[in-house]
Amino acid sequence: MAPSNFMRYIYGPVKSRRLGLSLGITLTPCKICSFNCVYCQLGRTTNLTRDREEYIPNQEILEEFKLWLENNRQAQAALNYITLSGAGEPTLHIRIAELIREIKKITSLPLAVITNASLFSDAALRQALLPCDLIVPSLDAVSPQVFAKVDRPHPEIKIEEVIEGLVQFRREFKGKIWLEVMLVRGINDDLRQIKKLREVIDRINPDKIHLNSPVRATAEANILPVDKKKLEKIKEILGENCEVI
Ligand code: SF4
Repeated sequence: MAPSNFMRYIYGPVKSRRLGLSLGITLTPCKICSFNCVYCQLGRTTNLTRDREEYIPNQEILEEFKLWLENNRQAQAALNYITLSGAGEPTLHIRIAELIREIKKITSLPLAVITNASLFSDAALRQALLPCDLIVPSLDAVSPQVFAKVDRPHPEIKIEEVIEGLVQFRREFKGKIWLEVMLVRGINDDLRQIKKLREVIDRINPDKIHLNSPVRATAEANILPVDKKKLEKIKEILGENCEVI
C-alpha cells in the first residue's frame, strides 16, 4: 500500500467488527459536528453547528480518492466498504449528494455512511443518501433530557425530529440500516429509557442494532462503559436483531 501520510481526507483501510475492512473518507475538518458527545473519541467539538457547507471541496476529496485507488489496487480488492465518516459529522457536507454520485461512478465497492442522523429531518439530505448501500446512524436517547446529557447536540436539534427523520428514511431507503446505540454507564443505560428506545427502534425498523459502550479514551473524563451483564439485558430488551459489538 502507498504511504497514507500524504493523504488528508482518506484514511485506513481500517478493520472493524462491524464493517470488516473499510477505507474511510472524512468530509469535515476536525472537529466540526452537530453533536458534542460525551463519549467522542475525537475530543470535544470545536465547531458545534448544524450549518451545512462544503467544508472540504468535493474536487479535492475526489482527486485524493482516485489517487488512492490508482496506487492501491491490491488493497482495494480486499475492501468491504468505502465509508464516509471521519473527523466530524459527514452529513454537514452540503455537496454530499454529488460526492456520493461521483464515488459511485468511480468504484463499484459498497458505500457506507456513518452518521449521527441529526439532520435526517431534511428531505434533501435523505434523498442524497439513497444511492448508498449501508447507513450506520446512531441513536443514543429518545428523551430530550437524556439526549442533552449524552450527545450534547446543537440547541436547535430536537430528538423528536431526529427520530421522525430516521423513520421516514427507512421508508425511502432500499439499502441496509445498522443502528448504533452507544451506552454510557449512569447516563443513558436506565432500563425504563431502554424500553422507550425499543418502541422507537420498532418504528425505525433497522436491519441490525449494534450496542456499544465506550472502552477507549473519550472527550470527557470518567465516562464509563456499561458492564457486560447489563449490556446483555439491554440486548434482550432491544430484540433479536440486536448484538453487542
Ligand atoms: S456525533 Fe460522532 S463525531 Fe460528533 S461528537 Fe458524537 S461521536 Fe463525535
